[in-house]
Amino acid sequence: MNSSFSIKIVLLITFFFSSLIKANDYTLTVTDANHHLAEVEIIFKNVKTKSFSVKLPIWRTGRYQVLNLPSNIRNFEALDANNKPLQFQKDDKNTWRIMVNTPHIVKVKYQVYANLLRSRVSHIDETHAFLDATGVFMYSEAQRNDPLTVKLNVPQDWRSVSGMESIGLHQFQAENYDQLVDSPIESGIHTFDSIKVEEQTYEIVIWGEGNFDMERLKKDIEKLHYQAKSIWKTFPFKRYVYMYHAGDNLRGATEHVNSTIIQTDRMGFYPDKNYNKLIATTAHEFVHTWNVKSYRPAGISPYDYSKENYSDLFWMAEGMTSFYDNLLSVRSEIFSVTEYLENVAKDIHNFKNKPGRSVMSLAESSFDTWLPNNSNRAHNTTVSIYLKGSLVSWLLDKEIRELTSNKKSLDDLHYLLYKQYANSESGYTSHDVKQLLNQMTGVDFSDFWDNYIEGTKEINFDELLAFYGLQIEQKDKKDKNSKPRLSLGVNLKLNMGLSEITRMDFDGPAWKAGLAPGDQLIAIEGYRINNNLDKHLENFEEAKTYELTYFNQGQLKTTKISPIEAPPKKIKIVALDSVTKKQKKHFKSLTNQDHKKSFK
Ligand SMILES: [Zn+2]
Repeated sequence: MNSSFSIKIVLLITFFFSSLIKANDYTLTVTDANHHLAEVEIIFKNVKTKSFSVKLPIWRTGRYQVLNLPSNIRNFEALDANNKPLQFQKDDKNTWRIMVNTPHIVKVKYQVYANLLRSRVSHIDETHAFLDATGVFMYSEAQRNDPLTVKLNVPQDWRSVSGMESIGLHQFQAENYDQLVDSPIESGIHTFDSIKVEEQTYEIVIWGEGNFDMERLKKDIEKLHYQAKSIWKTFPFKRYVYMYHAGDNLRGATEHVNSTIIQTDRMGFYPDKNYNKLIATTAHEFVHTWNVKSYRPAGISPYDYSKENYSDLFWMAEGMTSFYDNLLSVRSEIFSVTEYLENVAKDIHNFKNKPGRSVMSLAESSFDTWLPNNSNRAHNTTVSIYLKGSLVSWLLDKEIRELTSNKKSLDDLHYLLYKQYANSESGYTSHDVKQLLNQMTGVDFSDFWDNYIEGTKEINFDELLAFYGLQIEQKDKKDKNSKPRLSLGVNLKLNMGLSEITRMDFDGPAWKAGLAPGDQLIAIEGYRINNNLDKHLENFEEAKTYELTYFNQGQLKTTKISPIEAPPKKIKIVALDSVTKKQKKHFKSLTNQDHKKSFK
């Protein structure tokens, strides 16, 4: 051992211990699992000011909505190094300002109510504790970049798993608070397995009981690994944790830095129609590891946990990820081409039937993603960053292929974003994306942006599909003997035995008749409406006028209504009648599958 080497060792050891000494300590003790309660203690070290503020985020990463998480905090107290109480006051809904006598160490203690399972924030019961730091652990803006440790006092037979590095039984360490926020902890009684694919290790943790098929899941997770590699070439992690919650009617998922939490109905692993949804979600969250977690739009980088973080590019974060979840599933042959095209057809059909597509642009919808939504607003006056975002991603992919003779695609754009903006402090802007597109194709994408991102220009789906040798099957709508299906342009739900309007088409028959969401339909032409509107409509004629009785704000009213022909229930994408070599090539390079006359 030479002297410079031993100096280096000493320095390393000193650095290691000094970083441990500086680390803030977080401890969570499950105190009353039955009532979803835990006690949290945080020791902040190196407090340098006499006024020291701690905060709890008001939203959590991956869900761009204000969740008002501090409402789950109770019994807050602050103590000094000798456990003497310190005065504090609340400055706003998520800030506790502590008056410190001798700046050094500040302890805060509080009770947290952890019962936000479906929003994937926190859930404690007798079988597990799922903890996303945003809803559980406070931070200090001044010490946001300091290292920290987390210790859980939970039943000893539980397993604790997180994307964070484990430093003991139920103990973890993080480089800083941001890493803690992006590394939820799942502690409890689990089904567990892991696989190594090349240099990467994937851990699979399932909480809850259900019809799991771990071997199938592992095989597909391995396939997704190689699909991601084909786009991004390298992996921003060595270890990745797939956390699944299998419960009653659970759904949805959230991406994190090197882990994800996916919720599914406990019977969601079988048969294929259930499993395909689960694996598409799995692919979606995995794609987010690059798109959003590695490179993010400006506006959400770095995160501000105390307020909304605005961006006109949320559609790239979510829509492009949705485009890839279906696509990677067919490229890896987890989905058949038919299954892939069924999903695309469903998206096109849903989008074409939403009046909101001509009201709001993708950029506006991205910016306003923080506003609360309901099904009527979503349908009539907004567009989904997921749905339109994924269709515009496909259109952009086609434009890039067309301009580069199929040499480049959206995959290359994402590779460039990864190369240039991975872990960038400021994130990328629309201008940056347009510049990359220009660099790839030699063409200015300002018009494309104005039309489809900033504007509401209709997407020409026939042209888009034809590029890949595909078309929407034009079925003869009515055979000679059957009448067209009729519609009043409403969605209904049964409420206390009455058919209540949840959503109406803008300018549809119900709209024109003066009805509104919340109205309850009573009778049409004097006959009771009781979950049987379609049956009544089978006996009516298109454009003829009928008398409708309904409750509006509890008052009985009567109106006239004229049904119209209903849009088809679904559409199908099939091969064009004659397909060129070029179209076949486009299809193959998009899906990695051969173009066939009929898809299986
Ligand atoms: Zn997503």
